[in-house]
Amino acid sequence: MLFRQLFDRESYTYTYLLAQDYGCEAILIDPVLGQVDHYLRLLEEMHLKLLKVVDTHVHADHITAAAELRDRTRCITVMGEESSVDSVSQRISDGETIAIEGVSLTALYTPGHTDDSYCFLMPDRVFTGDTLLVRGTGRTDFQSGSAGDEYNSIMTKLMTLPDDVLVYPGHDYLGNTVSTIGEERQHNPRLNIGDRAAFIELMENLNLDNPKMMDVAVPANQKVAMAQQEIDEQGWSFSAAELKALLAEDGALLVDLREDSERDKNGYIESSVNIPYTNIDTVIAENGILSKLARATRKKLVFYCAYGERSAMALIAAREAGLESFHLKGGMAAWSHH
Ligand code: FE
Repeated sequence: MLFRQLFDRESYTYTYLLAQDYGCEAILIDPVLGQVDHYLRLLEEMHLKLLKVVDTHVHADHITAAAELRDRTRCITVMGEESSVDSVSQRISDGETIAIEGVSLTALYTPGHTDDSYCFLMPDRVFTGDTLLVRGTGRTDFQSGSAGDEYNSIMTKLMTLPDDVLVYPGHDYLGNTVSTIGEERQHNPRLNIGDRAAFIELMENLNLDNPKMMDVAVPANQKVAMAQQEIDEQGWSFSAAELKALLAEDGALLVDLREDSERDKNGYIESSVNIPYTNIDTVIAENGILSKLARATRKKLVFYCAYGERSAMALIAAREAGLESFHLKGGMAAWSHH
């Protein structure tokens, strides 16, 4: 596996790049906006295709690169169900997996630092965001943080992992890069102060200054939805009602771009075919299956996904490939509320 721990000196943020091998799909965890050119250069040098960008939570100390990376590479943005962002491409909940070829992360919902904090687990390592830091824990005094929840999350979700699982934090201010669950169990001062009540008392009396970027970073990080005005203006978007009418007259070749887990969780629209977004470039190519299918039918090619981001990116890619296509604005979420 390829693994890179990247560091942003301004915010002391660690960003993680994962891929099975050179030339494969890649995932980035907690990328920082100021480092986008660095990431893109690295991806190019390693011949990696960025497929997914995951944020562990809405950050207060730096602006996420998720939206910028989505706009520049057409990757998917992923966050937890609980995140107060306007929209991401895909939302996950506790226990779900985020997969790319050869790499699979299990999402652990670990509220406390914020109410939308997640950790991501692999067999030998865990990315702990700001929930657990090396010899520390994330502060819990803003963004709906809760010291009691953080204690529970650390004790029930992280300290139950084997001792030799590596801990990769979201930040470090002292030069530490990695630890293990066993080391933190033994030597993390915040986990060795007695009980939950003592932890809460300690966390509530830290009296820290707010992060210097907080007033800028939080609103910016909550506004990460893809701009779709142009697509709407071109008439390439269908509302749920419009799609329903089109389906009633059997006029749509409807393609669901979501993954199995999302279809299981949120259902799907009858008569749609399922082609995960990750395969889009292959299927819309000259001899691709969707290309052939679309040309063989008189129906309109309509993409849909969870919230309308993957479908918007797919329709742009398809149109670039010479395939007239449309999408369901707002995705399955809009369809369900219709
Ligand atoms: Fe944070």
